Amino acid sequence: MSKNQYSKSDSEEQNSMVGIGAAVALGLAPIIIDSCSGNADIPAVLGGKPVRKKEWPKWPVWNPATDEELVLKVLRSGVWSRAGVVAEFEKKWAETIGTKRCLSVVNGTNAMIASLVNLGIGGRDEVLIPPYTFVATALAVIQTGAIPVFVDTDPETFQIDVEKIESKITPNTKAILPVHILGLPADMERIMAIAKKHNLFVVEDACQGWLAEINNKKVGSFGDAGCFSFQSYKNLPIGEGGAIVSDNDEFMDRCYSYHNYGNPYGTLVGDVGSGTVIPGTKLRMTEYQAAIGLVQMKRLEEDTDKRSDNASYLKSKLSEIPGIIPYKLYNNVTRAAFHIFPFRYKKEEFDGLSRVEFLKALTAEGIPCSGGYSPLNKMPFLANTFKTKNFQKMYPPERLNFQKYTEQNQCPENDILCEEAVWFSQNMLIGEKSDMDDIASAIRKIQQNAGKLKNMVQTISRIPNQVNYLVY
Ligand SMILES: *Cc1c(COP(=O)(O)O)cnc(C)c1O
Repeated sequence: MSKNQYSKSDSEEQNSMVGIGAAVALGLAPIIIDSCSGNADIPAVLGGKPVRKKEWPKWPVWNPATDEELVLKVLRSGVWSRAGVVAEFEKKWAETIGTKRCLSVVNGTNAMIASLVNLGIGGRDEVLIPPYTFVATALAVIQTGAIPVFVDTDPETFQIDVEKIESKITPNTKAILPVHILGLPADMERIMAIAKKHNLFVVEDACQGWLAEINNKKVGSFGDAGCFSFQSYKNLPIGEGGAIVSDNDEFMDRCYSYHNYGNPYGTLVGDVGSGTVIPGTKLRMTEYQAAIGLVQMKRLEEDTDKRSDNASYLKSKLSEIPGIIPYKLYNNVTRAAFHIFPFRYKKEEFDGLSRVEFLKALTAEGIPCSGGYSPLNKMPFLANTFKTKNFQKMYPPERLNFQKYTEQNQCPENDILCEEAVWFSQNMLIGEKSDMDDIASAIRKIQQNAGKLKNMVQTISRIPNQVNYLVY
C-alpha cells in the first residue's frame, strides 16, 4: 500500500473545495448551500463537517528513547554483514513462531522463492495459489520456473477456498502455496490433509500472518516452510526483510547454503575443499536490519492483541449495519494478525452508491480506506511470463496455450470479492475503541446520506469532464 492511502492528501481537500465553487457556478446551489453550513449531518465529501479530524496512528512506530540503543550499537560496531545480531533475530523468530529453525533473508518474496527452489520445485511444475493475494505470491512461483494455478477464494473469509483445491490438482502439481491473506489464517488443517493425501509440499505465505494462530499453533509452522515479510508497511516493520521457518534441518541447511552463494552449511558439506556446493544466490540480512527487527519484535505481541481487540469490537459494530459484511474467521482460529480489517460492501443497502463513491465519501469523513486487490489471475504479467525465453524453452507448446490457461484459471467468486471489498489498514487498529466508533459512525452517516450522495454523483457526471474532475 502506498503511504498516501493512509491519510487524506491536501490536494483531495482542495479539490472538494474547488468543487463546491464549481458546482455553485453550475446551478447546483441548493445542495451546496446546505453543505456550507458545516453541518455534521452533511457528508464531508459534499462540504459537511467530517466525522473525524484526528490523525490515525503513524506507521512504522519508532521511539528514539527506547528503540535506538541497539541499532546505534550495531552501527558503531562496524560489523554490518551477517553475524551475531542476525543469528539472535533468527533464534527469537523461530521461538516466536514455534519452529526449530528460522533463516532471515532480504524480503518475503525471496523467502518464498528460496523455499520453493529448495523443495525441488521448478520448471514444468504447477503450484496452487489463491488469486486474492499480493502479486509477490505468484511472482515467487514464476521465478522458480513453475506455473501458478489459481484456486478460487472463499469470499466470507477472503482465504483460498479449500473445497476447490482438489479439482485443481494435476500430475504436474507439486505444491500448495496458501496465503494467510490480510493476516487472517487460511484453513491450514484441511490444507495439510489434502497435501498429505496427494503428496504435495506446502509453503505458507505468512507475509501478512505474524503471530496469527490456528488452535494455538502459529501460522507459518504448519507447512514444509513458512515465509514472512518485514517490509515497512507490515506489522513487523524493518524496512525490508524476510524469513523462512521450518522444523526440517536438512531443508533449512539447504536454504542457508542457497542464501549464501551456495556455500557449504550444516549437513550440506559437499566434498572437503570442494568450495561452493549448490547453485545458490545471495539473500543475507544485515546486522542493522536484524537490530531493527529485534526492537520491533518487542511491541508485536501487544500490538497484535490491540489489533485483535479493536477488530472484534469494530466487527461487532459494523455487523449491525445493513450492507456491511465483515470478514469471518474459521472456527479453529485462535488469533488473527489483522494486517487489514476487511469487509464486503453491498451497494444495494446504500441506495446503489458505488463502492468507488463510498470509498471517497468515507475517506472524506476522515476514515482512510481502500478497495484492496484486483484479480491477480487477470493481470498482464501472466501472459508475458508465458512469452519469456525461459518458459518458451522449458515448456512444450501445449502447456503455453494462454487462452486455455485463462479459461482454467477463472475465479468468479474472487472477481466479485475484488469489486466489493473495503480495507482499513493495520495502523488504524492500534488506537482506541473510540477510533473504531468513528469508523462505524462515518459508515452510518454515509448510509443515511447514500441517496443524496448518489444523486450528487449522477448530477455531476452530466456536467462536462473537467468539472467532474474538479469536484472529486
Ligand atoms: C508483502 C507480501 C509479500 C512479499 O513480501 P516482500 O517482503 O515485500 O517481498 C508476499 N506475499 C504477501 C501476501 C505480502 O503481503
